[in-house]
Amino acid sequence: MMVNPTAPAVEEPVAAGPAVPGPAVELIEVTRHFGEVKAVDAVSLSVQPGEFFAMLGPSGSGKTTCLRLIAGFEQLDSGRIQIAGAEATALPPYERDVNTVFQDYALFPHMTVGDNIGYSLMLKKVPKSERLRRVADMLDLVRLSGLENRKPTQLSGGQRQRVALARALINQPKLLLLDEPLGALDLNLRQQMQLELKAIQRQLGITFIFVTHDQEEALTMSDRLAVFNQGKIEQMGHPRDVYERPATEFVANFVGVSNWISGQLAQTLTGTAQTWMVRPEKIQMTAPRLAVPEGMCSVLGQIDTIQYLGISTRYDVGLRPGEAGQKESFTVVQQNGQDLPWTTGELVQLCWQREHMVAF
Ligand code: ATP
Repeated sequence: MMVNPTAPAVEEPVAAGPAVPGPAVELIEVTRHFGEVKAVDAVSLSVQPGEFFAMLGPSGSGKTTCLRLIAGFEQLDSGRIQIAGAEATALPPYERDVNTVFQDYALFPHMTVGDNIGYSLMLKKVPKSERLRRVADMLDLVRLSGLENRKPTQLSGGQRQRVALARALINQPKLLLLDEPLGALDLNLRQQMQLELKAIQRQLGITFIFVTHDQEEALTMSDRLAVFNQGKIEQMGHPRDVYERPATEFVANFVGVSNWISGQLAQTLTGTAQTWMVRPEKIQMTAPRLAVPEGMCSVLGQIDTIQYLGISTRYDVGLRPGEAGQKESFTVVQQNGQDLPWTTGELVQLCWQREHMVAF
């Protein structure tokens, strides 16, 4: 477990939501196994009303199964699920006040955009005039007004995603589950939709539970996130806490890039043989110099590779064997200014503040 007494606690307010008493969703020791596979293994979590909650983890870590358990598409082996304070463990999907948006959108191809969005109102026999008004409101919300007579095949990926969102929101659910809804979009569109989705969620105050394997997406969009690994939650918290103070080595490696300090190097730098981690952007790279400022750690190395990333540059720096006691390298990320000051093979000094190290 992480121990870093010098790091300040990072707390951010949870988004304000409608006044519903208690959590929007609560999972208590929820388990779902498929034969030998522990897809979801005694998971407990609590999502607050109006919160944007992300489930993050690698492929196969149990995120989708967890979401399907909340929706009622999957049966639990043990544990309990509560939705808006009421027992939902045994309820079928249609009796839960929950809607789901899937990665493939699952639109009806033969229906128009307007009919896709208004389909559930049609099933409920909502009068046509009210149905059309509510569809128009939804089209407005997702910025698709004027496209209501198109078929899904006549839309772009981002537009189809918005139709799926409008269709899920038209019933005004208290809780919306989203399973990798932006997975099929290219990077630019994905980033644009991330902003739009977040803005819509804020505007409506609905609780969102969002599954993704993209750590940047989870960090930028969520109020809080849970990091899944092999059916269990490794850490749950605000994005900045999870990134700055990862609780386990798995979280440190999955969320962002980590430089590890252990053994001889840790002994030299900190006086303990503990394992430590420091993030690439916390490291300053300078020409070798002797004086190390008070409160800083420092190692010497040689630039092995340089990756130009546009907004920043990533350097892999091999540490001098005498420094690490073995061959090790650090990753350093620097914002780009006018020009790139470094070339491959250069000798450099890496410095960082001791308080930026996280101990494990
Ligand atoms: P991805 O990001 O790839 O969708 P995930 O984190 O959502 O992954 P799940 O889909 O929840 O992971 O799967 C968790 C584990 O459970 C995996 O090992 C998967 O193969 C297994 N699994 C999921 N559904 C079933 C099923 N119906 N039958 C058997 N095994 C399943």
